[in-house]
Amino acid sequence: MRSETWGLVGRPDELLRLSDGRLVPVEVKSRSFPRRGVPESHRLQVYAYLALLEDRSTAPPPFGLLRYGDGTEARLPWDESARTELARTLAEARRPYDGRARPGPGRCPRCPWFDACDARWTG
Ligand code: SF4
Repeated sequence: MRSETWGLVGRPDELLRLSDGRLVPVEVKSRSFPRRGVPESHRLQVYAYLALLEDRSTAPPPFGLLRYGDGTEARLPWDESARTELARTLAEARRPYDGRARPGPGRCPRCPWFDACDARWTG
């Protein structure tokens, strides 16, 4: 899926069709449900799929699902708060890099840009 509006490309692991016909994206994680709750990176990933799906459908998805390896599911509402968080994160990610990255063991492992960051802390 591609969205010109959001400038995003991606594909959820699954699409679930609700009884009213709306589609819901499902992101499957092999790990167990994190003790500290849904990480920001997982939440933003589902928000991105929700934005992609919303752009393609006449009936916006009401929520997205995260399904963890231990069977736990987290339902993430697709509301104005979620749209705002995704928009703010994308705007931050698209800002030119200013060279001020401060990698560290506390922040990098939890950072949503860890995989793409050249400055990440690797120990
Ligand atoms: S992974 Fe990169 S962007 Fe994220 S906190 Fe670490 S240095 Fe900063």
